[in-house]
Amino acid sequence: MSSRKETILKAAKRTAKQAHAAASSRGSRKLGRFNAEPHRHCVVCWKPIPLDSDPAICVDEGCEKMHSRREKSRKRFSVLLYLGVAIFIGMLVIQLMAGV
Ligand SMILES: [Zn+2]
Repeated sequence: MSSRKETILKAAKRTAKQAHAAASSRGSRKLGRFNAEPHRHCVVCWKPIPLDSDPAICVDEGCEKMHSRREKSRKRFSVLLYLGVAIFIGMLVIQLMAGV
């Protein structure tokens, strides 16, 4: 029983040490990144790309395709949204007219 408890304690201590090491190393890396040039990230793969690249995608062909597909579906969605709102308002107006 006690040996098992010891094992668990040891494991916990080891995990804590690892977490601490990871945290400190991450902190130093963050400091380095803070000095990096301003940049944006590819919206598809999050690769760092130049700040003035528009649309915000890298040179990867797959990313370009994915981005255009997303853009298309986004446009379609906003059209549907506007259509839905228009229909809703239209029905509301019709109901108001009918009520009065
Ligand atoms: Zn990309």
